[in-house]
Amino acid sequence: MLAKRLANVSVSATLKVAAEADRLRREGYDVVDFSAGEPDFPTPEHVKAAGKAAIDANFTRYTVAPGIPELRQAICARYQQDYGIEVTPAEVLMTVGGKQALFNAALALFDPGDEVITHAPYWPTIPEQVKLMGAVPVIVQTNSSDGFKVHADAVMAAISPRTKAIILNSPGNPTGALIDEDDAAAIADAAAAEGIWVIVDLCYERLIYESVPHNLPKILFDRLRDRTVLAGSASKAYAMTGWRCGWTIAPKALTAAFNVIQGQSTSNITSITQKAALAAITGSQDAVTTMLDEYRVRRDNIHAWLTADPGIRCVKPSGAFYLFADVSGLLSAEGVATSADFAQALLEKEHVVVTPGEGFDAPGYIRISYATSMEQLREGATRILRFAESLRPASAGASR
Ligand code: PMP
Repeated sequence: MLAKRLANVSVSATLKVAAEADRLRREGYDVVDFSAGEPDFPTPEHVKAAGKAAIDANFTRYTVAPGIPELRQAICARYQQDYGIEVTPAEVLMTVGGKQALFNAALALFDPGDEVITHAPYWPTIPEQVKLMGAVPVIVQTNSSDGFKVHADAVMAAISPRTKAIILNSPGNPTGALIDEDDAAAIADAAAAEGIWVIVDLCYERLIYESVPHNLPKILFDRLRDRTVLAGSASKAYAMTGWRCGWTIAPKALTAAFNVIQGQSTSNITSITQKAALAAITGSQDAVTTMLDEYRVRRDNIHAWLTADPGIRCVKPSGAFYLFADVSGLLSAEGVATSADFAQALLEKEHVVVTPGEGFDAPGYIRISYATSMEQLREGATRILRFAESLRPASAGASR
C-alpha cells in the first residue's frame, strides 16, 4: 500500500519511549521521565510577549515562504556576531524546526544510491532522513573511550565515489560531544577536494558548557563556502520546541531549491512564531545563559550521582543536555541482557524512563536527559542506583 521509500524507515525510537512514559503517567504511576529531548524551562517572557503581540496585531496571515526578511536578516546578524561569518538573507530560509532544515537539505541534495556519511551514536532522524530519500547512510563509529570524538581520518576513510554529503552534529545528541575544530577543518578540506557537501546540525550550538573553541561555521565557510549547509534551531537555545522554528544557512542556489520545496509543501513557518523568534534572536541572550548555567549544575550532579555506581560509566558531556551512560557492566546473559531490556525493566520496576542506546546505534548505553528539575534528577538517580544494585548477583540475596 505504501510507497517504497518508506520501506526502510523506522519510527522514532525516542517518541516511542515518550509514549510509554505517558501511558504510565495516565495510569497514575509516579514516573520520573528522563526521556525528554526538550528544555523544561518555559519560553522566555519577552519571546512569549512578541508572539502575543503578533496575534494582537493580526500578524496571522501567510508570509513569504522563506520567512520574513527582518528575521532572516536577524539570523545573519547573529551568525556574524557569534561566528564572524558574513551571510546574506538570500542564503537563509526559516524552517519548521531544525528537523525541516535537515529534511529540506536531504530532499534537495540526496538521490537514490547516494552515500551520506554521518557519525554514531547519532540522533536517529539523521540516517532515517537519508534512507527516506533512497540514499545510503554510511556510519562512522565513535567511542566513549575518547569522549566520542569524531576523527577526521575515520570520516575521510568512509568517503567513496558515491559520497554526496557528510552530516555532522555538534554538540551531538545523544553524547553531548563536540567536534574538534581541527577535525572539522580536515573534513572540510577533504570535502572541498572531493566535491562533497557538508551539512552541520547545530541544534545545540548555544548549549556548550565550557568556553572551548568551536567555530565550525567559520571553519566550513573558509574552506567550503559553496557546499556548506548550516542547520540551526530555536528549539533548545530559547526553549521554543513547540513553536517550531529552525533555519538553514546555505548557498543562494540551494536556498532557492529549499524555497521551491517549502513553497510546494509547508510554505512559510507560522507567522506568529516568526515574530517570537525575531525577539529571541535579536533580544537579550541572558535567558540562554541562565538556562545553560542551570543545566551545568544538573549535569555535574547527575553525573556524580550515577557514576558512584561502578557499573555505570560515562564521560561528562561538553554540550546539549544528555548523559550517555554505558551500562554494559550491569548487563548479563541470564537477566537483563541488553540496554533495551535495561530501559524496559527500569521502567517497570522503578518507573524511570530513559532512552535505550539501541535507537542511537549504541547498544549497551542509555540516554538520560537532564532537562528536568533537580528534585526529579535526585529521585531518578536514587531509583536507578537501587535498580543497578538489584542487578548484581552478589546483592541479590542480601537482605536490604
Ligand atoms: N538535531 C538534533 C541533534 C536534535 O536532537 C533535534 C531535536 N531533538 C533536532 C535537530 C531538531 O529539533 P527541532 O526540529 O525542534 O529544531
